[in-house]
Amino acid sequence: MSWDFETEPEFQRQLEWIEQFVRAEVEPLDYVLESPYDVRDEKRNKLVRPLQAEVRKRKLWACHLEPELGGQGYGQVKLALMNEILGRSRFAPTVFGCQAPDSGNAEILAKYGTPEQKKRFLQPLLDNEIVSCFSMTEPQGGADPKVFATRAEPHGDDWVINGEKWFSSNARWASFMITMAVTDPDAAPYRKLSAFIVPADAPGVNIVRNVGVGDEPEGSHAYMRYQDVRIPKDHLLGNRGDGFVVAQTRLGGGRIHHAMRTIGQVRRAFDLMCERALSRNTQGSVLADKQMVQEKIADSWIEIEQFRLLVLRTAWRIDRYKDYLKVRKDISAVKAQMPKVFHDVVVRALQIHGSLGVTPEMPFVDQVLESFVMGLADGPTEVHKITLARQILRDYKPAAGLFPTGHIPALRAAAIRKFADRIELEV
Ligand SMILES: Cc1cc2nc3c(=O)[nH]c(=O)nc-3n(C[C@H](O)[C@H](O)[C@H](O)COP(=O)(O)OP(=O)(O)OC[C@H]3O[C@@H](n4cnc5c(N)ncnc54)[C@H](O)[C@@H]3O)c2cc1C
Repeated sequence: MSWDFETEPEFQRQLEWIEQFVRAEVEPLDYVLESPYDVRDEKRNKLVRPLQAEVRKRKLWACHLEPELGGQGYGQVKLALMNEILGRSRFAPTVFGCQAPDSGNAEILAKYGTPEQKKRFLQPLLDNEIVSCFSMTEPQGGADPKVFATRAEPHGDDWVINGEKWFSSNARWASFMITMAVTDPDAAPYRKLSAFIVPADAPGVNIVRNVGVGDEPEGSHAYMRYQDVRIPKDHLLGNRGDGFVVAQTRLGGGRIHHAMRTIGQVRRAFDLMCERALSRNTQGSVLADKQMVQEKIADSWIEIEQFRLLVLRTAWRIDRYKDYLKVRKDISAVKAQMPKVFHDVVVRALQIHGSLGVTPEMPFVDQVLESFVMGLADGPTEVHKITLARQILRDYKPAAGLFPTGHIPALRAAAIRKFADRIELEV
């Protein structure tokens, strides 16, 4: 297996263009606009659409998609290098046509949608004329899909959906949801659920309230109630009972893309930390001269670089095997490590900024909260650690005897037996 830490010169030039474009044109949007997902916001469209056109001209639109869907078919390594720049800005993924959850939902529709559904939902989604929602978590539990209770039952030519969903992000702006519902309650645990396209304007699709994170009074995470929602038979995605297989289409890519963008956010905090260390004087010298500040900078740099290498290697393995299941262990490791690196670096940056660090005049408080979000959305850290450990343990077996295979007295005795005829040792 060969390793290559260089970027092709042509792609490097694209990255340099992305970097300056995001800093100069996209980051300022974060300070004047509300949500990247509110496609009905005229102010947003006025500022975002021309930038999206520039990205298309530059052939950088929706790079995660295959060319037949209007993308560039970039592999994950290229996407990683690109996403770590986009991660700096809230609006950048939308400007580059790769925002979650639309990117993953588009992949699902491309794979499982009928031609008619692709025309109605996929094309406008790819063009960012509409946005979408992934509706899976329920109020009684998210980390354990076995407790999901929302039902979809066949009635004549329709499916009828009843139940509640929690934290269905962006439902308030979405034209459709991809909704997971129990179709086969008596099947094996991972064969009970199926995935459906539910148009947002279908009667019975109700938002109970839009829950916020942190101190947002109203947010973008819908508490939803599906009440006798009737959708045509063909709105089932994949086969009945295939819900997890369908969901996996988006989750593998989604998780690694979050990690790539997290690197961008963490680097932003790190850059601010270093700048502040060189700018602020106390007790007769700049902060950068204090050893405990130096330690914070050194630890942060090491942790970011370690994490970035893990992400890039995982991206490289996805490109190589083209099978998320084969790279499940690596993706779980990335997902589990992401909130920790994010949190640890950001709290150091916050601390070095002193009182200013805890105010909304700096990004750190929001970033600390975001680090917790990264440890929950797409599954909590604990569950990913469980997956990782289980996958690792598959390559091991229990010791045959009473003592471990590394028990030194037994190893020594075996070594003595092995060399007995060449050296004089007592067995
Ligand atoms: C900002 C944000 C956006 C989200 N967007 C969406 C979305 O668009 N669509 C959607 O469907 N969902 C979404 N979610 C929900 C997310 O997927 C769930 O929060 C997550 O799966 C955890 O479910 P839960 O919140 O019900 O926590 P629970 O399942 O109640 O778990 C609570 C805690 O228990 C612990 N725990 C759970 N299981 C185990 C275990 N096996 N071993 C040890 N400890 C464990 C963990 O500490 C965990 O955090 C979003 C969440 C957030 C925070």
